[in-house]
Amino acid sequence: FSSDLQELKLALKEKGVKYAIASFVDIHGMCKAKMVPLTHFEQMMQGSELFTGAALDGVPQEINDEEVATMPDPASATVLPWNSEMAWFASDLYVGGKPFEACCRSILKNALKQAADMGFQFNLGIETEFFILKEGEDGKAAPVSDRDILAKPCYDLQGLLDNYAWVDEIVQAMNHLGWDVYSFDHEDGNGQFETDFTYCDALTMADRLTFFRLMVKEIARKHGYFASFMPKPFADRTGSGAHYNMSLADLKTGQNVFVNESDPRGCKLSTLGYQFIAGILKHAPAICAVIAPTVNSYKRLVAQGSMSGFTWAPVYICYGNNNRTNMLRIPLAGGRVECRAADISSNLYLGAAMILTAGLEGIREGLDPGEPHAENMYKYSKAELKTMGIQTLPRTLGDAIESFAADPLGEQVMGSLMYQTYIDFKSQEWQEYHTHVSDWEIQRYLKFF
Ligand code: GLU
Ligand code: MG
Ligand code: MG
Repeated sequence: FSSDLQELKLALKEKGVKYAIASFVDIHGMCKAKMVPLTHFEQMMQGSELFTGAALDGVPQEINDEEVATMPDPASATVLPWNSEMAWFASDLYVGGKPFEACCRSILKNALKQAADMGFQFNLGIETEFFILKEGEDGKAAPVSDRDILAKPCYDLQGLLDNYAWVDEIVQAMNHLGWDVYSFDHEDGNGQFETDFTYCDALTMADRLTFFRLMVKEIARKHGYFASFMPKPFADRTGSGAHYNMSLADLKTGQNVFVNESDPRGCKLSTLGYQFIAGILKHAPAICAVIAPTVNSYKRLVAQGSMSGFTWAPVYICYGNNNRTNMLRIPLAGGRVECRAADISSNLYLGAAMILTAGLEGIREGLDPGEPHAENMYKYSKAELKTMGIQTLPRTLGDAIESFAADPLGEQVMGSLMYQTYIDFKSQEWQEYHTHVSDWEIQRYLKFF
């Protein structure tokens, strides 16, 4: 047992930690874990905690298989900001002493290794959008404050102040963990908020986002509310995105290789940046199946329907300058690519692995994405888009999974076991939804026909 781990144990003890949490994620990116009294910390860090994958969603194991073991990453140690008696650890999964091939965290690590072999570090910043709601008497989600009635709640200061107690607790917790929040605001839907914090390497970011969702739910509950990371909880409000802000840094110098101040295309982006974009556009439908992973995700990816008129969510597979109608946007400052198709329900380990691998392919093959679109993409007709050669993002989870299954990228990124598991699990989810008869259909057709 290394002296570093002895030190870590001591530091946790001094902070009053009683339990260490060996955590990993299922296919949804939700934390699954065992709690271990600190007296057994050594064993936990050496893989003592075993889990039967067959009990979980998308952890492909038969009931008679040897259990998977968690190998906690000491670098991810996180004392829970709302209860310092517990420390959370993100773990890789092992089976029979070897890495488990369908471990989401290891899948991302493999993709990062490919980037490293090409001399790059993948940096990622996630914009977290989510709803804070109250459980209404009818069991339905009710607004948190009287102000949740605005037609245009975006950036509403009064709405933010009304929610100061919980929002401040979340921001303080994030900063306490060293995440460096740089702003937070009321988003475009009533009850919707966003907290933004400094980017970091993609593995750390995936651990952070996984923990973030857990933390926000806990803190909201403390205040008598609940947090929802469902992509589109309300038909007439904007959905919750999780825009991926991406760049590659030179491993040796740490310099961002996407920067080019004198870019002739006017996006302040380097050739490597454009190639990265081209790789993502090439595989966009398959990627979409992972970064917009639910039935509900596709109700967010529409141009209209919110009270303010726009959804700010992308519909077409294209890229452009600083405008919010493209799947890939290059913010004004340049040097980074923002993927707007991703939503906040996505498993960031898998999503980041897919998008990075596609981007790296673009670089390896020297692909070119063509000219950027500075114009409002929502305004084009289907015919115009067809002439321009612009495809639409998948319209349903069913379409997305078909594209995922047909694209070799998925298997390349996830390995054959997780690739097949993803297809099976998500096809089943789609099938269950598709064979359900909704209220909308009853209202529309029952008496009409
Ligand atoms: N909520 C929007 C979405 O679903 C994004 C709004 C924004 O640009 O921040 O992606
Ligand atoms: Mg936003
Ligand atoms: Mg954004």
